[in-house]
Amino acid sequence: MKSSNHELPLFQINPAIKALKPSATLVINEQCQQMTKNNEKVFRFGFGQSPFPVPDVVVESLRKNAHQKAYLPVQGLLELREAICGYILRTEQLSYTPDQIIVGPGTKELMFLLQSVNQAEILLPSPSWVSYAPQAEILGRKVTWLLEEGAPDPDFVASTLEKRCIENPDQARLLVLNYPENPSGRTYSENQLEKIAQVARRFNVIILSDEIYSGLHFDGSHRSVAQYYPEGTIISNGLSKWCGAGGWRLGAFVFPPALNDIKKAMCVLASETFSAVSSPIQYASISAFEESNELTDYLRIARMILKELGSYCYDRLDKAGAELVKPQGGFYLFPKMDAMRSRLKVDDSVSLCKKLLTETGVATLPGSVFGRPATELSMRLAYVDFDGTAAMNACEGQQTLEEGFLQTYCKTTVEGIDRLCQWLSS
Ligand code: PMP
Ligand code: GLU
Repeated sequence: MKSSNHELPLFQINPAIKALKPSATLVINEQCQQMTKNNEKVFRFGFGQSPFPVPDVVVESLRKNAHQKAYLPVQGLLELREAICGYILRTEQLSYTPDQIIVGPGTKELMFLLQSVNQAEILLPSPSWVSYAPQAEILGRKVTWLLEEGAPDPDFVASTLEKRCIENPDQARLLVLNYPENPSGRTYSENQLEKIAQVARRFNVIILSDEIYSGLHFDGSHRSVAQYYPEGTIISNGLSKWCGAGGWRLGAFVFPPALNDIKKAMCVLASETFSAVSSPIQYASISAFEESNELTDYLRIARMILKELGSYCYDRLDKAGAELVKPQGGFYLFPKMDAMRSRLKVDDSVSLCKKLLTETGVATLPGSVFGRPATELSMRLAYVDFDGTAAMNACEGQQTLEEGFLQTYCKTTVEGIDRLCQWLSS
């Protein structure tokens, strides 16, 4: 028998995981925190976190529930699931019962559980948020990017989905639709949603409707694809974005009756992994989903600021020669700088973002991590580098933003965009 004194314990990392790197969003967040610690000037446009505080009414509710210590049902606290049903009925005019809902520690975890239990090819409009594809890869699922080709086509999701389904109609598929969208800030019109729903119904495609930015639709008029395809749509929503509570880790999935078996299988996985979401957080979250004047006002102000700032950043980048869509919600922009390729002297989006960070301190994420071709000079920027509490306080009781508001209360973001635009034209 060999001496075990100097031997390393045996282990073998799953090759599917070995091939992956830590999620780009979390890496850029920690890199920026380190740069700030080292007193380096950095414009934090890399990580997409709400700049606004958690609404007082929700914080107060957490304070009152700090003593909640018991494990809650795997599916989630009944009163919270009731409040979520009320929220969806109020905001989307869709009627569900609490039994159709699962509460999880962030929607990201629920997405992983969904892909774990459902052996389907995942279809992602390009660009899409950074974590859907790696989750699929960990689980050995096939990932197909839906790419707009040729002239801009507002219905490219419906048409590329249809094309893909015709090629192989019997494959189980999951289309992930996120709107308002991370990374581009665009959303789908009712007509576009209806067309996507028609194709999905024809080919029995399940839609995961990621509506985490629904409350930050600038005009407050978010509509769900579940309106047009209720039987095949799973709605995903949570507190991370419109309630400013990303670190609370609370998300929920809403299932149609036809997908009850998926819900049940996810509950089994939840029971064997996270058990249930933290009790104080679940009790406190009830107040986030319930109707209150305070929340209505909070959302009105958040949207007003983000709309103005998003339009400002869009205009500046557009004038500087970048190609991008005007945002309709959320807090992201996805400019493409291919027209400036020779001036920028870079060949891919990773080098573009590295060069930008080194030369200006502006931190962004490369388009390639959102499923764009590596050589496209695209990047995502999150226009959230400002003190959201001070900005909100300054808006109290105001119906519009005062003159010079952005320059005063969103100063770092305005400065960062200025630097980026100067860099693009220098
Ligand atoms: N979807 C999108 C589009 C996101 O930007 C994020 C990041 N918060 C998530 C899902 C995951 O959110 P959470 O896990 O915080 O609910
Ligand atoms: N969704 C955020 C982003 O896109 C970060 C949070 C995360 O990735 O989990 O930057």
